[in-house]
This record gives sequence, structure tokens and C-alpha cells, in this order.
Amino acid sequence: MGVRAQKETRCLTTHPRPIPVGRVEFFQGTLATTTEFESARVFDTTLRDGEQAPRTSFSYDEKRAIAATLDEMGTHVIEAGFPVNSDAEFEAVSDVAASTSTTTCGLARVVEKDVEAAIDSGVEMVHTFASTSDVQIEDSMHATREEVVERSVEAVERVVESGATAMFSPMDATRTDTDYLIEVVEAVTEAGVDWINIPDTCGVATPSRFAELVATVRDHTDARIDVHTHDDFGMASANAIAGFEAGADQAQVSVNGIGERAGNAAYEEVVMAVESIYGVETDIDTTYIADLAQAVEEYSDVPVPANKPVVGDNAFAHESGIHAAGVIENSDTFEPGCMTPEMVGAEREFVLGKHTGTHSVRKRLEERDFAPTDSEVREVTRRVKDFGAEKNRVTAADLERFAREVGVAHEDADGEPETEVKA
Ligand code: MN
Repeated sequence: MGVRAQKETRCLTTHPRPIPVGRVEFFQGTLATTTEFESARVFDTTLRDGEQAPRTSFSYDEKRAIAATLDEMGTHVIEAGFPVNSDAEFEAVSDVAASTSTTTCGLARVVEKDVEAAIDSGVEMVHTFASTSDVQIEDSMHATREEVVERSVEAVERVVESGATAMFSPMDATRTDTDYLIEVVEAVTEAGVDWINIPDTCGVATPSRFAELVATVRDHTDARIDVHTHDDFGMASANAIAGFEAGADQAQVSVNGIGERAGNAAYEEVVMAVESIYGVETDIDTTYIADLAQAVEEYSDVPVPANKPVVGDNAFAHESGIHAAGVIENSDTFEPGCMTPEMVGAEREFVLGKHTGTHSVRKRLEERDFAPTDSEVREVTRRVKDFGAEKNRVTAADLERFAREVGVAHEDADGEPETEVKA
């Protein structure tokens, strides 16, 4: 694990992938609900918005390695960067465009030099954006509503003329006057835009309100709809899913959810929700997710919290007695069932501690060739719980020590019973 980027590396993972476990079909309740959408495309912006996370900068080799893995997995679009930013950025974007088979996208303001740099970088898609909320038009772009429409149309026309796929974002759409937003959407549609991305730039959307906005934009364009959501209130992935439900064709995501401020909708959350909860095939190989998340954590220097969905250390870990006992018997009891650690290239873990029950202790002892009686399991469990309650981490060595203290029988490699075991 933790494979470092190398120039020759095609992608981050070199070991053989496990075979994905099929989706479980027998659940009732909300999982029995009919699918609300038929398809979902994934636009990854780890290398663009993700890299804009405070204190984050990817090296050229790291960008290459992340892009190669996203490409290998079957990600539909990779936003590789902002070509006008610097010569190094231009080279990195060009390189990703040339070395991947998926669609590569480059970002550009509605400024001529930005658009030309993006076109020259060789990307198949150019993503132009302009602020449409009054606060950003006045205090970020220092322009007027009329100028924004005019410059947006010019930028889209230039991209269309170049032959690249044209995406346009009315930045800060969720804080934009609706009538003006519609005016901009209709103007760029007239200019031939292929995709309209609806950005919740400052993360103020909620799922039902965002769905309404997506439906409104759809009513005023024949372009395909993409959504870009931020996690300021913890709803980025939920809003992306609401976008799909409201008819968006694609969502923008980043690995581990890294990005500006609290970050973007997380790649792993959106892809797994679409695949597992909605049963919609993205054709993305999700078994790379754990390794990709670990690499992006290392390269970005943004730590993944233990309780992060899908990729956190606790995402498939169990400690409490009732849950662990259930999962040992059938993992569907206290896991989603429609999502397993195997599906994302992770492993299930039974953690020993204050909340541990006898089932986990017996399982862990037997895995280490101990043959405990019921009363010995109870005694070892008591020691594990007491030790864990003092805020200690209970390691395998601790467990073996407790087993020896209690006098649990152990079989060595030859199958001969043995009572003394080295830690
Ligand atoms: Mn953003």
C-alpha cells in the first residue's frame, strides 16, 4: 500500500484486484425503491478543485499517477487543471490529456488568454466559468451582469469553434437571481454550449432546493447538465445525488472530497451511492477506491478522518459486541449489505476494546490458533474490555498476552498442543 508515483507508473495499483462482489438484491425498505435515474456520469476534479484545497499542491508525477488511476478505473471526465495558471500547470494538463484515454478537461475564466491556453493544452473539453451572483460579479469579477453575459457567450463560441467540447459554469448559481441565471443559461445555450454545470460554489444548497434548481435550468437549455457541489454544511454528496434525481447527467467530485474550504462531493461517496443504493452502473471499477484514497491522502496532505464514509479507517470496522457478533455471522446484519469492503478494495476489521463481546474475542483467538473454552473466552473478554476502558488500544500482542495469562491452549504449526506462546 502507499505506492508512490513514478514516471513509468501506469496507475497507482499494481497488485491484482479482487473480483467485485455483486449487489445484494434481497433487501426490503428503501433499498427496494425503484431506481430514480438510469445513468450517472462522473467528472473528477481532484486535480483542479481538489488541488485548490488550502495547503495542497500535487507534483507532476503525483498528478500523472492520480490521472492514470482515474483513467484506468473508467472515470468519465478528468479535470486536469487550470492551464493558464503556469507553464508547469499547462505541461501537466497537456500530459494528462495525451496519456489518458478518457476525456480530459481544462478550466478557463471567460478571458481570451485562459480559453486559448486551455484549447492549446490539447484537452478534449474546455470548462469556462463566470460569476453570476451579484456579490461575485461586483466584488470578485468587478464587472456588470451585461458584461458577464457577453464574455460568457464569446468564450463558449470560441471553444465551440475550436472543436473541443464546451462546458460552461454560472459560478455561484445557488446564490444567483433566478431570472438572471436563466438569461445566462439561454445565452450560452444559443452559443452552442454542450454542457451546463450548475455550481453550488459556496455550499449553501440542500437536496430538495438543489433538485428544484437543476429542474429549472433543464427547462431552459438543451445542453446536458452537470452539477458541482461543496461540503460547507456536509451536504455535497447528498446534493450531487439530488442533482442526478432531478435529471443531471453528471456530477463533479473529488477523491476524499478534498477541495476549496470543506471540500467537494466525494468521489467514493457519490460513486458508491449511485452503484449500491440506486443500482445504477457507472462502469467505474470501484475496487481501486481504497488505494486511490490512500494515495490522494498522502499526496494532498489532507488526512482522511477515521469516520469518513467508504474510505475512513472505521468505515468497515466493528467493535461493539452486538454488531461484531452479527457481522461475524453475516456481514449484511450491520453493514449496508449493498456495499461491502471488497467492492471498494478495503478490508473488514474487528477491533478489540471497551465495547468488545465474546464473539469477536473467540474469533480472534481461533485465528491465532488458540482453542479456548467458553469460560476462558469470557475471562479474556473481561481483560480486553478493562484494558480498552483505560483508553488503551488493544493489539494482537495484548490479546495473546491475556490468553497466556488465562492459560488458553494453543496449537503450534505442527498441530501439537502448546501452552507457552511467544508474543
Ligand atoms: Mn468548486
